Amino acid sequence: MGGGGIVPVVAQPDDRTASGWDPRDVVRRKRDGGELAPEDLRAFVQGYGRGDIPDYLASAFLMAAFVNGLSPAETSALTRAMVGSGITLPLSSVDAPKVDKHSTGGVSDGVTLVFAPLAASLGLAVGKLSGRGLGHTGGTLDKLASIPGLRTDLTPEEFERQVRDVGCAVAGQTADLVPADGSLYALRDATATVDSIPLIAASVMSKKLAVGTDLILLDVKAGSGAFMKTPEAAGELASLCVRLAADWDRPALAAVTDMSQPLGTAIGNALDVAESVRVLTGDEAGPLRDLAVRFAAAALGALAGVEEADARSRAGAALDSGTAAERFARMVEAQGGDPRVIEDPWAILPRAPVRTDIRSPEDGWLAAVDGEALGRTGVFLGAGRRRKDDPIDPAVGIVFRAKIGDRLTRGDPIGEVHARDEDAATVAVERSLRALTVAGQPVAPPPLLHGWYPAGPS
Ligand code: URA
Repeated sequence: MGGGGIVPVVAQPDDRTASGWDPRDVVRRKRDGGELAPEDLRAFVQGYGRGDIPDYLASAFLMAAFVNGLSPAETSALTRAMVGSGITLPLSSVDAPKVDKHSTGGVSDGVTLVFAPLAASLGLAVGKLSGRGLGHTGGTLDKLASIPGLRTDLTPEEFERQVRDVGCAVAGQTADLVPADGSLYALRDATATVDSIPLIAASVMSKKLAVGTDLILLDVKAGSGAFMKTPEAAGELASLCVRLAADWDRPALAAVTDMSQPLGTAIGNALDVAESVRVLTGDEAGPLRDLAVRFAAAALGALAGVEEADARSRAGAALDSGTAAERFARMVEAQGGDPRVIEDPWAILPRAPVRTDIRSPEDGWLAAVDGEALGRTGVFLGAGRRRKDDPIDPAVGIVFRAKIGDRLTRGDPIGEVHARDEDAATVAVERSLRALTVAGQPVAPPPLLHGWYPAGPS
């Protein structure tokens, strides 16, 4: 490893292992509700990274942390240990103001795919380490990987060069960059230990703190399709992430946003990419566009002092004029994918062989959507993983067009399932319908944004 801006994390002396330290004691202490020392967490994370600590022991640790929680000091130490599992990348060769953005996980959440090229087209530089699908939520890496040829395993040098030359890069944890998050993330997904505030905060923030940006923007999701089911729980996660950033002297802004229903209309991987392209080319309005515009405006406000209304209008213009889409094409090409995806996505992206309509079960107003159930139906179809190394089917998923508050007429199409075969499609349609609540009277749509931490733009 080398290169101007790459900072190797100095390996900490691992005296715990040398002195007969036993990782089972770490699990035992956490299991019994005790507080772990930073050195224990570091040795545990390092040991797991080296392969000295097996998956079963790391799973036990994750479950103990899930059940008994981690104190702010433990969360900070775990985050530090995860950042220290690899190198850090200050991006010092990038002159433009640098921003990173991360979602805590949702359903039909293509904001990153829109935000990264949009912010780049507005003169900012976006360097983002993303994750793959987690639990019932989609992952930006899986979505991008549905573009044939596209690589998300960029080396640190490739990542920095692309942020400098193209203005945006979206890649995954690697053997160099926060490798501990890569392996613990996959293990949490397979062991029902995802929806824990400290584990999510450490995972998200380790990826953000390893890359040297001037602003970290966090999209903390709240609602049925999120890991945090209420705005209050999401607020707790938002505050913890912002506090972790402050520990590292890094500016961060977190928005708690609505995930009481899928954000966009596409739940899948290629389906999500196609929808993001429609937003990037100005061909789709709605909450996905609105949220990407708000994040771009927040970044322009914080990094370039642009006033909120002006920033939102510049972001909207970049979508409508095609400049954001053009930047997406450059990013895709730089990562080995086919840039024609912005001209004709379905000429490039894989399509599922079976498509079956989802039809409104009754007359009324859509009152509630179980976003997690829809996300799990996507996983059932093959859009996500049940086991750590399961392959993803990039083509399958759900298109769900109805939004809370919409008037529904029995039998009208409100979406469709994209499946590998008829049987899977039939089950997925039934499961999707069970995720809906239809009311006999009008229902108010939920707000898109619940608030900022610390208080910021409206
Ligand atoms: N995103 C992450 O990077 N990690 C989590 O744990 C959840 C969402």
